[in-house]
Amino acid sequence: MFVRRKEHHHYFIHVPGCPFLSSVPPEDLVQVENVATAFSEGYEMCSLCSPLRQKLRVEEERISAFCQENGITYVLCNKYIAVSTPLSQWRIVIADNEADTELYHRNTIRQEPNIPPFLTHYHDQKIRFPRLLPYFQYILHHDNYRLRRPLPEKRKGAPPKKGSQRYRKLMKQKKQQEKSRSARKVVAMIDNLQTKGKSRRKTRKTG
Ligand SMILES: [Zn+2]
Repeated sequence: MFVRRKEHHHYFIHVPGCPFLSSVPPEDLVQVENVATAFSEGYEMCSLCSPLRQKLRVEEERISAFCQENGITYVLCNKYIAVSTPLSQWRIVIADNEADTELYHRNTIRQEPNIPPFLTHYHDQKIRFPRLLPYFQYILHHDNYRLRRPLPEKRKGAPPKKGSQRYRKLMKQKKQQEKSRSARKVVAMIDNLQTKGKSRRKTRKTG
C-alpha cells in the first residue's frame, strides 16, 4: 500500500511510515489504490522510502557485478528501474502492494493496449520474482535466446530468392490470382453472351 498527502502540490507517493511523513497527521493522508494511475497523474515515487531503492540496496553488490560482467546497465528512476542491454530495454516497476515487482519489456513487435503512459512502448513480460537479481539474469537469458533466434525482419521491396519459402508463397499467390482472374473472364464472357441473347430476343419480340 502507498499513501500520498491530500494537498495536490505534494507530488510524491510514499510507503506509510516514511520519515518524510512523520509530521503529517494521518487525516492529511490518502491511500494510493493504483500506483500506475498515480504515476499517470504526475506523482512520483519518494526517493527516500522507494521500495525499489530498498530492494536495490540489499542486492546492489551482486547486481552491479552481474551487470558489469554482462554489459547490462541500469538506473533507478523515480517510477521504475530502467535496464538496458545492447539488445533490449526493460523496466522493473513496483506493484501496488509495494512488496512485489513487475517486469516490462520494450516492444519489438506490437503495442499492447491498456498500458499506462509511463510504460508506453512497453509490455508486461508476465515475469515476477521476489528479488531483483533474477530479473537481470532473466534479461540476459532472454537476450541470448533472441540472439540465437532473431525475429524475422520485414523485408519490403527485396524480391524473394528462387526456391525459398517466400518465393514459393509468392508463386502460389500469383497462381491463385491468375486462376481467379481467368475465372472472372469466363463469368464475364457468359454474362456477355446472356445479355446479348436477351437483347436479341427483345428485339425479335418488339420487331
Ligand atoms: Zn517517502
